[in-house]
Amino acid sequence: MTSVGTSKISGQAKELKFRDPAQARALSARLAGLCDEIGRESVQVMHVCGSHEQAIARYGLRAVLPKTLDLIMGPGCPVCVTDMPEVDEAVVLAVDGALIATYGDMVRVPGTAKSLADAASEGARVEVVYSASQAVELARSCEAEVVFFATGFETTAVATAAIVLQDDLPPNFSILSAHKYVPPAMEIVARIPETRVEGFLAAGHAATITGWGLFEDFVDRYGLPVVVAGFEPLDILAGLVRLVELIRDGQAKVENMYPRCVTREGNTVAQDQMWRVFRTASGMWRGIADIPNGNLRLREEFAHLDARARFDIDTRRLRAHVPSKLTERCICGTIMSGLALPTDCELFGKECDPENPVGACMVSSEGTCKIWHQYGGHPEL
Ligand code: SF4
Repeated sequence: MTSVGTSKISGQAKELKFRDPAQARALSARLAGLCDEIGRESVQVMHVCGSHEQAIARYGLRAVLPKTLDLIMGPGCPVCVTDMPEVDEAVVLAVDGALIATYGDMVRVPGTAKSLADAASEGARVEVVYSASQAVELARSCEAEVVFFATGFETTAVATAAIVLQDDLPPNFSILSAHKYVPPAMEIVARIPETRVEGFLAAGHAATITGWGLFEDFVDRYGLPVVVAGFEPLDILAGLVRLVELIRDGQAKVENMYPRCVTREGNTVAQDQMWRVFRTASGMWRGIADIPNGNLRLREEFAHLDARARFDIDTRRLRAHVPSKLTERCICGTIMSGLALPTDCELFGKECDPENPVGACMVSSEGTCKIWHQYGGHPEL
C-alpha cells in the first residue's frame, strides 16, 4: 500500500476505513494462504474495468498480492475499445463541418488516418465535454450541427439515454453512438483458451446500474465465478479474497462484495431508459474481436437523433491510408484480451508514451498502458 487516506471530519482526522493498512495486510495474508491451499503455479483472475486497474496501480496493490495470483486487466477501457472505423466516422463528420463534442480522452485516440485532435489542428471543430447534457447546451448555443460522439460502457450509456428521452432537444443536435456493452465481451474473453481466466472481478459502478443479477446467466453458462467489487483498496482486496475462495472451492456463482452500492436488480429506472433508447449490435472492439451484441446503437425510433441516419458518413477516403509501422506493432488488443502486459510491448515507454501515444491504451486514463506508465505495473515495496 503506497498511501493511507485521511479525511478531516468535524475537525478530527479519521482514517478512511476502506484504506486501512492493517486490514489490507490481513486480506493480503488471507490471499496468500488461499493461493497456497490451491497449490498451483498460478491462479489467473481478470478484472474488466479501467477504474479497477487505476486503483490497483495507484495503491500499489499488486505488490501485496501473492506471486502466484495473476491479476490481469481485460477489455475494461471504453476509449481503448472504440474501434478505428468509429473514430473515422467522427473524423469525417468533423472534417465535413460538424462540431464534434466528445469526452476528453477520445480526442487523441488514433483513427485509421488521423485522430480528432489531428482534424482539429487542420481546422475542424472539436469540443471536449464532460457530459451528454453539456453537448446539448453546446448545440443550443450555436447554429452548427453538433454531433455528440458518445463513448463508454453501460454506466455512461444511461446518461446518453436520459438525454435522448428529453423532448426539447435542439434540432442541430445528434449522437454518434460508440457505446459498448460489457457482458458480451466477458463471454468472448472467457472463451479465449489462452487466457485461462478462472474468475472475474466485475466493476462495481457498472453493476450499480445493471445489478449483480446480470452475471448469473454468464456464470451458469461458463462455470466461472464473478465477484462484484468497489474501487477502494479494501474493496478490491476483499473482492479478490472472495473470488479466490470461490475458485478454491470450485464454486461458480456471483457474489456481491459492494453491497453499499450494488443490489441484485440494480437501477431499474436507468436500465429501462437505456433499453428504450439503445439496442445491441455486433461489431468490433478495437484490437480484440468482433463482439456479438457488444455495441449499443440508437433504436430506429430515434433515427432523427442518430448521426449515422442523418448524415452520409463516407469513411472510405480515410481507409486508403496506410497505417504507420509503429501502429502495426501496437499490441493493445492482446493486452486487453489478457494475453500480454504493457511491458511486453517493445514500444512501451520508448516510441509510445502519454505524450506520443501510438495506441489507444496509452491515451486513455483507463488504458492499461497509460496507467502502467504513470504508476508502474508490478511495484516492489
Ligand atoms: Fe500500443 Fe503503446 Fe501500449 Fe504498445 S505501449 S500496446 S504501442 S498503446
